[in-house]
Amino acid sequence: MLTGPRRGEPPDPDVDWPTPEGAACFYCGKACRDPSIMWAGLTGEEVAQDDLGPVVRDVLAPRLGPIYESREIYLHPRCARSLCIRLLRDVWEWECRVGDGDIEESDLL
Ligand SMILES: [Zn+2]
Repeated sequence: MLTGPRRGEPPDPDVDWPTPEGAACFYCGKACRDPSIMWAGLTGEEVAQDDLGPVVRDVLAPRLGPIYESREIYLHPRCARSLCIRLLRDVWEWECRVGDGDIEESDLL
């Protein structure tokens, strides 16, 4: 999502998520300010732990605490584009090595 108010409109605290003070760009490390690109969520590992069932969810998660909290990353829009290009270049390299673009479970191990 794009942070901050829409151009020419007053901030709406119910809709607009401001870039927090001191946020650094995930890609270049320099300070970010509105509008920046924000992604939030759990890592795949954290989601997998949640799939273990009610023991993890109800017993371990309250003890482990912070690993179950959503994390945010912020990017300058141009840095987000640069990161995407480099990620896709790496995927293309992987596709060239594997031979086709289909991802098999064994490719992920
Ligand atoms: Zn940046």
